[in-house]
Amino acid sequence: MTVDVAAALRKSTGRAKSDVANKLVSMFLHEVSRKVCAAGELSVSDPRYSKSVVAAFGQCCLYYGTELIDSAVPVVEHLNGMNRFSVGLHVPGNVAMSCKSCNNKKRDDDQKLPLSENGWESFLSHDGTRCSPTCRTCAYWRRFWPDSDLQQLSLAAARERVLRFQDPYQQFVNWSAMVRGTLRAKIETLYRDCQRFATSEIGKLATEVDLEFSNANRPKEKN
Ligand SMILES: [Zn+2]
Ligand SMILES: [Zn+2]
Repeated sequence: MTVDVAAALRKSTGRAKSDVANKLVSMFLHEVSRKVCAAGELSVSDPRYSKSVVAAFGQCCLYYGTELIDSAVPVVEHLNGMNRFSVGLHVPGNVAMSCKSCNNKKRDDDQKLPLSENGWESFLSHDGTRCSPTCRTCAYWRRFWPDSDLQQLSLAAARERVLRFQDPYQQFVNWSAMVRGTLRAKIETLYRDCQRFATSEIGKLATEVDLEFSNANRPKEKN
């Protein structure tokens, strides 16, 4: 495979502003998470919680069940992503471990949430029966379960596993669903204000930089 240098350079040039806004969204969701964990007297870093993650999924990816050894690159996963689309929180019932590959794949799905308002549920519903034949997430699961019946059964089992895991944390799960609309509206404001601030402030500061090329400043040509 060859590297598309032009596309990579284009992407890196266009991304800078939204990266800042997305970071603020994540910081906001973490702040809300801290507060609700304090109110609920349980946090994700509590040893009781990590024990229950291991009890539910073992040392495996919560989606497919790949063993989380170094080659599968374990990552902390938010069942509902902590972004402005999924509005997930860093609270018990929304945090477990997955492999990097599923985490990457789910990120695409998280931007559209085509099959459920819950990120994890949408991701685990691509069983080849609900999307267009060209759906890339359905194709991702087909790689693991080439047989379509097996794909449907396995994904249904994975969804069940998540629901069972979340059961003891219903208070957090229900609360998160209840405030999702409110949080989403606040996040949209935060995201828009941040983009606007970045554009105007950066633009203003940039005009204060002397952009004139003069012959005196130019590197001398070598003889
Ligand atoms: Zn995985
Ligand atoms: Zn699909």
